[in-house]
Parts: sequence; C-alpha cells; structure tokens
Amino acid sequence: MSMNLVLMGLPGAGKGTQAQKIVEDFSIPHISTGDIFRAAMKNKTPMGIEAKKYIDKGELVPDEVTNGIVKERLAQDDTKDGFMLDGFPRNLNQADALDKMLAESGRHLDAVINIHVEPDVLVERLSGRFICRNCGATYHKIYNAPKVEGTCDVCGHHEFYQRDDDKPETVKNRLDVNIKLNTPLVDYYQKQGVLHEINGEQDIDKVYDDIKKVLTNLN
Ligand code: ADP
Ligand code: AMP
Repeated sequence: MSMNLVLMGLPGAGKGTQAQKIVEDFSIPHISTGDIFRAAMKNKTPMGIEAKKYIDKGELVPDEVTNGIVKERLAQDDTKDGFMLDGFPRNLNQADALDKMLAESGRHLDAVINIHVEPDVLVERLSGRFICRNCGATYHKIYNAPKVEGTCDVCGHHEFYQRDDDKPETVKNRLDVNIKLNTPLVDYYQKQGVLHEINGEQDIDKVYDDIKKVLTNLN
C-alpha cells in the first residue's frame, strides 16, 4: 500500500507538530519545504540566500525554485512506498506541478489532510512557537511546553530558537499571503476527491487521533 500524502494548513495550524507523529507511526519520509529552505539558509547555499529574500518578508519563494526542490526530493528512492509533503503545494501552480511529477512516475496522491484553524488563533500560536536547535522539534510556550523546562523531549538538548519569520511584523503578511491562496487549493483537492478536513482547534493529541483515523482507513 502506498501512502502519498499532503499535509495542508495555514502557518501555525500544526502541520509540523502532527507530521512528527505521523512519520513515527507510518514510517514515511517527512518532506517540509520550509525545513528544506531553513537548512539551505543556515548553510548559506545560493538557493538559501535567494529563498531568504522572500521568507524574511513572509512571501512565497518563487514556484520555479520550490517545484524544482520537490521534484528532486520525490525522485529519491525513500519516497517509493510513500511520503508526506508538509507546506507544499501552497498554490494552484504548485499543485498542478505536483500532479505532473507524480504522474510521470506512475504515482498519485492518496490523501490531502487539511488542518483547519481560524486565523485569529494562529497569531498566538506562531508568536509562542519555539524550536529545538538540535533536532527541530516544535514547542509552544503555553500549549506544548517541553515536559522538563528547557530540555527537548525528543533529543534531550537544551538550546531552542524562535524562527525569524515568527516575529509579529512577518506573521501578518505570511498569514495574508497564505489565506488568499488556501481556498482555491482546498477546492482543487476537494474536486479530486482526496481532501480530508481536520479540526485543528483541539488538543494536539485529539487532532492526531482524527488524522490517524483518516490514514488508517485509507487502504
Ligand atoms: P505549522 O507547521 O503548521 O506552521 P506548527 O506545528 O509549528 O505549525 O505549530 C505552530 C505552533 O502551535 C507551535 O508552537 C505548536 O507547538 C503549537 N500547536 C500545534 N498544534 C497545536 C494545537 N492543536 N493546539 C495548540 N497549539 C498547537
Ligand atoms: P513553513 O515552514 O512551511 O511555514 O515555511 C516557511 C517559509 O518558507 C514560507 O513563509 C515561505 O516563504 C517558504 N515556503 C515554504 N514552503 C513553500 C512553498 N511550497 N512555496 C513557496 N514558499 C514556501
């Protein structure tokens, strides 16, 4: 059984948080375009330097760049039995490009999980988000604090950081940009019959229960 998934949702909806749980249970690679861009920025590669111009403003990185990265990643062997895209596609052009990439290798999407959270909740989620510098696990100062203060639950390290684009100046534009693009994308996948709506305004574990039900019933 293949499990080719897309995890959709506005910034802060909980994609990364849920992705961590999904990959653990279903052993498929987690492909986050945001993570790929952050790694490239950290390493100051040419692509990272280019992407930073857009990310710092809360804009999308141009489709040629983003589609190329995903195409390369999906050509790797570990995606053969399934994958989970997180944060891609973000517009119709990317969705179309994805369909073509998959068709070329005889694949298709099995499910698109849309984690729905109202925009006013998202501002608070993004402003309280912090991340383990060692393993990338995501926390929230109120809603999802580490079990032992200052220590990562996953890897035990003690250093955390806040994403530059989670600053209030950038958050507003990021949300505006993504809200505008989100509705057509939801409609697109609804028409394809692969969309599953999840209520993202519940406890993290409850959101995961709902996602797991969908994934378990796919085959
Ligand atoms: P995304 O990857 O969609 O941008 P994250 O998974 O990073 O979102 O979550 C954004 C922030 O909200 C993080 O600080 C995370 O700990 C917190 N969070 C995630 N899911 C929930 C939830 N169901 N309830 C409350 N806070 C959540
Ligand atoms: P994320 O980690 O998904 O919140 O993404 C962080 C930033 O990376 C976004 O605000 C965009 O600037 C950029 N980015 C991530 N995914 C995409 C994508 N699919 N298309 C364009 N830009 C993206």
